[in-house]
Amino acid sequence: MRHDPECIFCRIVSGDIPGQPVWEDDLVIAIRDIQPQAPAHILVLPREHIRSIHELTDSDEALAAAVFRACRQVAAKENLDQHGYRVVTNVGEWGGQTVDHLHFHVLGGRQLRSLG
Ligand code: AMP
Ligand code: ZN
Repeated sequence: MRHDPECIFCRIVSGDIPGQPVWEDDLVIAIRDIQPQAPAHILVLPREHIRSIHELTDSDEALAAAVFRACRQVAAKENLDQHGYRVVTNVGEWGGQTVDHLHFHVLGGRQLRSLG
């Protein structure tokens, strides 16, 4: 499994930086965002260091399924499923990605503005 000792999310996954996962399984963990943009703001990330969705390959099918399953589980656990929620992943500099370890923001708990 790829691991980057310089990567903040890899350090959380390895327990190097203590964190309280909201949810976890063999492939994925979910943590609360340190700077929440909504009443519920959770980051779902693979344990493995993958830079972004742009680096996923066909062999990551099981991982992609696990990540989306985790998003659903987290949303249900945070009671976001009744009113709805948003799942976002940023890619690269212009996409607004600041941590180069694939993660999905699960946002909810208030009305979110339309992107359009
Ligand atoms: P992005 O800008 O899409 O790469 O998202 C990175 C997110 O990680 C931001 O929303 C940060 O607030 C969040 N973040 C950075 N460091 C930590 C940390 N140590 N624990 C939890 N969230 C973090
Ligand atoms: Zn990493």
